Amino acid sequence: MLQAVTKCPHCSNEGTFDFYAVPYVEHVKFTNLPGGKQVEVVRIRGIASCCKCREPTLIEAEIFRNEWEVFKNYIDKREVYRIQQFRITRKFPEPKEPYSHPSIPEKIRKLFSDVQKLLKTAETPALVVGACRSVLDAATKELGAREGNLYERIEELYKQHIITEPVKEWAHILRRYGNKAIHEIEASYEDAEELVEFTKLFLIITFELPARINEKKRSG
Ligand SMILES: [Zn+2]
Repeated sequence: MLQAVTKCPHCSNEGTFDFYAVPYVEHVKFTNLPGGKQVEVVRIRGIASCCKCREPTLIEAEIFRNEWEVFKNYIDKREVYRIQQFRITRKFPEPKEPYSHPSIPEKIRKLFSDVQKLLKTAETPALVVGACRSVLDAATKELGAREGNLYERIEELYKQHIITEPVKEWAHILRRYGNKAIHEIEASYEDAEELVEFTKLFLIITFELPARINEKKRSG
């Protein structure tokens, strides 16, 4: 088994990838090592899967030809070889960065960025749902609803026309799921995925869009 360590574009885990096949090897250049010895650098493209989420990734890397000639034999072996001297030049898919916008207060931005990373690992969806509720909770306070509990603050934002009726309804759904997730430690991955998507929309509507509109007004 041939392995390399890199960050997974699917689950964001920094971990081991197992190569299934390396169908593509091409010459890049000859280069001189510090001792004066000339070596050939080759580019390989391999199909590998993440040890954590098992999703496939195409990995392109540069490696010395003589080392590659040894490493390639491990692909079909049970024995594990982990490549160290290995410069990854490209990955497909590219790792997707979590949603973020400078108009969102830093505390909320950081929490929501962590929530999105946590969702990718697909571990404990209840934690993700609970954290989405915390994002919503903090956001309602930042948006000016300082009094009362989360239910009252959502209603307050609606009365102040900061959020529309459908957004209010969704916010209550998130509030209820969040409570359940926190108390019963129970939520499905699909719920978590949907609520992360709603939380993102909520932040776009309440922070990003107004900031962008203000920017447009200023510029003319
Ligand atoms: Zn992964």
